[in-house]
Amino acid sequence: MSSSLARYVDITGEDVVNQLRQLAEPLAGKRVVHVNSTRVGGGVAEILAKLVPLMRELGIETTWEVITGDPDFFSVTKSFHNALQGNRVPISASQYDHYEAVNRENAKTLSEKLASADLVFVHDPQPAPLLSFIPKRRGSWIWRCHIDASRPHRPVWKHLRGFVEGYDASIFSLPDFAQRLPHPQYIIPPSIDPLSEKNVDLPASEIDEVCRRHGIDRTRRLAVQVSRFDWFKDPVGVIEAFQLARRSCPDLQLVLAGGTAADDPEGAAVLDAVNTAANGDPDIHILLLPPDAHREINAIQRAADVVLQKSIKEGFGLTVTEALWKARPVIGGNVGGIRLQVIDHHTGFLVSTPEGAALRMCYLLQRPDRLRTMGEKAREFVRENFLLTRHLREYLTVMVALTTGMKDRIELA
Ligand code: UDP
Repeated sequence: MSSSLARYVDITGEDVVNQLRQLAEPLAGKRVVHVNSTRVGGGVAEILAKLVPLMRELGIETTWEVITGDPDFFSVTKSFHNALQGNRVPISASQYDHYEAVNRENAKTLSEKLASADLVFVHDPQPAPLLSFIPKRRGSWIWRCHIDASRPHRPVWKHLRGFVEGYDASIFSLPDFAQRLPHPQYIIPPSIDPLSEKNVDLPASEIDEVCRRHGIDRTRRLAVQVSRFDWFKDPVGVIEAFQLARRSCPDLQLVLAGGTAADDPEGAAVLDAVNTAANGDPDIHILLLPPDAHREINAIQRAADVVLQKSIKEGFGLTVTEALWKARPVIGGNVGGIRLQVIDHHTGFLVSTPEGAALRMCYLLQRPDRLRTMGEKAREFVRENFLLTRHLREYLTVMVALTTGMKDRIELA
């Protein structure tokens, strides 16, 4: 068994890896293209960076293309994102036109690759119209939606659906997110890579060093939320929760670690609100990290006693998976993909308010044994359900189904 896939055997067992090789056999030599709108920042880029090399290793000719656009384009697509997650965002006719025009331009550059591919995965709304500008396509196209689309703002979804309907299949992360569409829909939750810099074990000295650099006191308890500065991640709610929890746990510190994604123009406004809420409190560490600070985030997650992800909408929440894998129970918003991962009272706690989050933080911090046993459960839960190998297996299954016409059943020898 060769290179990097073999390295998963120790974590998942040999059967899991053998099954991937078997499933990939009928796909050998197929040309697959993934398209999204950013190379770094956010969960989709995080996943593709790991998934694409593994697909290549399995003999599938896989490439990853990133569409480009001007700030107006990313401002419209961010509105799309917000509207699909339920905000009543108005989008004007000229904004819709610009969205299409940018996709038309990108289609010109990508047309050869996309038209000749056997399978094209188009991630999220940003590049969704590409399909309509590739009239002579050869392969199957899949729209992969990573967003919490459980209650989309209807007028915006109606517009986007016009582009998505022509796809051969869609993939959503949770059954709740599926929509009425004229093609098969698959439910595939995302995953983390246990071997990535973000998730590998780290020496204690490295964790100490990262904390020292950021002024985090290792002799005091620490709550952490790692997230882009986005309203849906509710960083201000996290600060409120921290301020309440500190009344019972006076040694508590908070880290809000984030950065911006190239396709997210709202970060600066959210960061302003976070700074205002923190009001110079020396126990609140607001860390703006570069997009490649994977080991640093890993260290901060490992330095945490409890991890928060107090989102009010969440497509999946890779940060939750990352924390659970590090045996940290997560106090998470009772929404979207967090519900799939935080099993209340087992791998963490689901909360809906800053008060709820504060209560659960104190509960865990005052019960180190419970903290530890929940953390152990959390890690095993991720091993079973949310590692890259499971994700890849499910993608391969869909790919085999779409390329061979075996829609209902796939036989493994
Ligand atoms: N992330 C990061 N730097 C940051 C903030 C987030 O590397 O400053 C990573 C985080 O560790 C996770 C991903 O970006 O792997 C975020 O994925 P998630 O699904 O949690 O949220 P999204 O940003 O896609 O809404």
